[in-house]
Amino acid sequence: MFKRAIFLLSAFCLLLSACSATPAPLPTETAPPATIPTLPTLVPPTLIPPTETPTATPIPPNTRPQYTMDVQFHYANKSAYVNETIVYTNNSPDTLTSLVLAVESTCSNSFTLNSLAVDGAPVANYIFDYQNVQPYIRHRLEIPLAAPLAPNGQVTVQIGFGLVLPVVGNFSDESSLCSQIYGYTSQQVNLVDWYPFIVPYVSGKGWVLHNPWYYGEHLTFEAADFDVMVTFTDNSSPVIAASGAEIPSTGVNTKRYKIEAARTFALSFAMEYRVATKTVGDVVISSYYFAPYEVPATAVLNATAQSFEIYTQKFGSYPHKTLSVVQGDFNDGMEYSALYYHSKGIYNNYDGTLKNHLTAVSVHETAHQWWFEQIANDQGFEPWLDESLATYSEIVYYETVQPDALTDWWWTYRFDPYQPLNQVDARIYEGEGQRPYWNKIYLNGAHFLQDLRARIGDEAFFAFLQDYLAQMRGKISATDDFFRILRAHTSADISDLIAQYFQNPH
Ligand SMILES: [Zn+2]
Repeated sequence: MFKRAIFLLSAFCLLLSACSATPAPLPTETAPPATIPTLPTLVPPTLIPPTETPTATPIPPNTRPQYTMDVQFHYANKSAYVNETIVYTNNSPDTLTSLVLAVESTCSNSFTLNSLAVDGAPVANYIFDYQNVQPYIRHRLEIPLAAPLAPNGQVTVQIGFGLVLPVVGNFSDESSLCSQIYGYTSQQVNLVDWYPFIVPYVSGKGWVLHNPWYYGEHLTFEAADFDVMVTFTDNSSPVIAASGAEIPSTGVNTKRYKIEAARTFALSFAMEYRVATKTVGDVVISSYYFAPYEVPATAVLNATAQSFEIYTQKFGSYPHKTLSVVQGDFNDGMEYSALYYHSKGIYNNYDGTLKNHLTAVSVHETAHQWWFEQIANDQGFEPWLDESLATYSEIVYYETVQPDALTDWWWTYRFDPYQPLNQVDARIYEGEGQRPYWNKIYLNGAHFLQDLRARIGDEAFFAFLQDYLAQMRGKISATDDFFRILRAHTSADISDLIAQYFQNPH
């Protein structure tokens, strides 16, 4: 993520939207009607076994959560009925007496729970309430299980829900914790974190679900398989950007997408999207953009494809068949599985060179397909694990494409103006403001990695990153995993670096 990233505006406004001079344009559409149009009763789709070639993930596909979603979307009204089925296997050594789901779309009062069943039996005693920690957001859905779920046991959850999308970013102060991407604008619909999902369960810790915060991400995602069908009930036919690859569908006005071992399934619709594509190996990279932005959108595509090749070589392979970049109709950027949003303001300020924010953020967000998508982390409590690596991956990109000129530029442009603080291992709640949070987690995290590389040498550094990816791919990494795998690749004393950059011993 690089929120609301804006290109150089002045000597005092170098990078990010905390000092943006180009606020997001206010959407002009009126709010959707309060009532959802009546739709026919839906039959949950049948689960279809995965057909993709298995990836290097160490988790057998049949024990990953399996999400099947049938989305009946009324484009004109910006509303939907969704039938969701989750086949969940208890991969922990504990017997589970309940399941905990995150329901992020409640944040904007967009979500209505219509039905809930476990193994075919309706559930009425669910707890759908606020977490008892400020700020209060009603996004935790706990489903007691009629029969305890033993290790390796499997359960099927069926959820029927409605969505009435909000206008993107059109929230009151109290709702500023809500997603600034989810919803619609005059020309774009964005479904991100839009469906209930079972949060990770960690033995000894319990369910991992933190409250949102004013900056940073708070969610943690297990790798899961998704099979998503979208039908436009008003016969509209927008262009669709999706996590996952499109597969044939027999329905009228229906599109179907599948992806395996993914973290979170995002969708974006627009009537006016243009699409530029490039193929790298067997992966199709697509840049979705609005007509006036062909030049920056092509630069985004090129930077994404070029960094994709570099990261594949330096870190390891990419497991999916597609990667989509979506120009946001807002000033924000965010990574999802096989898809990332890019800030509109950055397209506006593209200067045609590599030494600019459009390129730096493109390669940063692309790196999240390794550090976030392939190796997940507790983004609320250990955000450095993905953000410092994504930020440092910018350097890996620049030093590869123009070793002499661009790496020095990166430090001068990206790092030096901000005098980063230490506390690389701060939680998002300890950020002390958005700019200090970025300084600690992103910038000082990248500086730590630079110093670490200088200490242990290039060979050990990249061998470590490749091994870290190989061991943790498909899993949720913790800081302990990072240092455990690192120490297998070096005997160098790094205690002074840890003391310098981290607030806790590691
Ligand atoms: Zn990021």
